[in-house]
Amino acid sequence: MKYEKTRQTVLNAILDCVDMGLIHGTSGNIAMKDPDEDVVAITPSGIRYKTMTVDQIAIVDMNGKWLDGPFKPSSETPMHTAVMRARKDVTATVHTHGMFATICAMNWELKPITPPQCEFVPVRIVPFTMPGSDEVAAKVVETLGEDGLSCLIKNHGMFCCGKNMAQAMAAAIYTEEMATTTYYAKVAGIYEPMPEEAIKKMKALIAADQAV
Ligand SMILES: [Zn+2]
Repeated sequence: MKYEKTRQTVLNAILDCVDMGLIHGTSGNIAMKDPDEDVVAITPSGIRYKTMTVDQIAIVDMNGKWLDGPFKPSSETPMHTAVMRARKDVTATVHTHGMFATICAMNWELKPITPPQCEFVPVRIVPFTMPGSDEVAAKVVETLGEDGLSCLIKNHGMFCCGKNMAQAMAAAIYTEEMATTTYYAKVAGIYEPMPEEAIKKMKALIAADQAV
């Protein structure tokens, strides 16, 4: 099978997301660029993840054209390939409908509550656009900007990316954590994110790989 390692990385990541409750049913999708060729492995559309096998992960070109795999690629492929075309530093993308990220996407931009979350901010909000459209893909690219790793999509969920699958997955996990803690803290009336100065310092430490 071609691109087996890349397909396996995508399958492992989507199963991790299902285990962590970040993905329910067939919502959400994950993609990874092959390290050797300009092709992308992506989860197929409408197929149950729990019983998915590695050969069922679809292969598309950098424009999202279906090249291989028995099931058609995710309908949200345009978002993933648009980000990978725009950002040469990105090789992995994770999109989920995590509950708290979806709630905060209505109007609460996320700020870090704990130090590890600092790596993934700012987390801006993409205005609502029809899922699967080139328009939402363009808006996600614009909102992530040159170095963003995470954004929320109004009435939809979140979109995260990274230099590798580990970073893209960490972005999704910490975005949902940030959204969950933000939601409960705001509802409890005690919301207090980390100070701006500390966020900047923490981000610099993480970037320099000096965070403890
Ligand atoms: Zn979606």
